[in-house]
Amino acid sequence: MNSTLLTKSLIDKLWKASHLIRKAKYAVAFTGAGISVESGIPPFRGENGLWNTTDPIFLEIEFFRKKPLQSWQKIKEIFYDSLGDAEPNIAHQVLAKMEERSFLETVITQNIDHLHQKAGSKYVYEIHGTYKQLVCTECSSEYDMSFADLNYLPPTCFVCKGILKPDMVFFNEPIPAFAKKRSFEEAQKCDVLLIIGTNAEVLPAADIPIKAKEHGAKIIEINIKPSHFTNTVTDIFLQMKATEAMSELGKLLYL
Ligand SMILES: [Zn+2]
Repeated sequence: MNSTLLTKSLIDKLWKASHLIRKAKYAVAFTGAGISVESGIPPFRGENGLWNTTDPIFLEIEFFRKKPLQSWQKIKEIFYDSLGDAEPNIAHQVLAKMEERSFLETVITQNIDHLHQKAGSKYVYEIHGTYKQLVCTECSSEYDMSFADLNYLPPTCFVCKGILKPDMVFFNEPIPAFAKKRSFEEAQKCDVLLIIGTNAEVLPAADIPIKAKEHGAKIIEINIKPSHFTNTVTDIFLQMKATEAMSELGKLLYL
């Protein structure tokens, strides 16, 4: 996709968005696949989505429980062989600087790629979990993935020899209760919600902007195409790539 032409109307909207962020008492970002695409991470859904080329059964929790080896072989190929090398882009970096300069309180993300933390964000709620941590299916011990040797699959627990599972939400698996609870608290508390790169088609993520709006937050949305938020809850729609919009907002906030 070519870079977006900065029209007068877009410049005006960017300025208004930066003004809202400046005035905000408690701004929160809500991110999805669209922020990481430019770090080379394919989205799951939509055109060019992972599920066009890969059978999503490997990420179903029932399949993982029955056939952990097959599931792990595919998971390793999709996530672990590439995600470790992915680097945050300017959109992640601007969010981290916003937090550092107190323009932003927290990031709620649907991404499992750990790129917000890699960029320096400290308060991140990962509602779909993270690839970076593994959890034992037997005793619930947790490990940083750097402790696991993925040359031998499936990786097993050092404590009980149980099979380790990536600590991300599989299909038909519930959202981690703590992250969900905190995300909704943040949505209710914020006075500005910055939606970046997500249509949030899946529940409960889809409810976060709605909840924020119900509690009086102004909604700034950055997406390359209108989403179902655009004409319902969004106050300022920046139809741009995440990197372009965040880079412009970063300049306007003197980051
Ligand atoms: Zn264990």
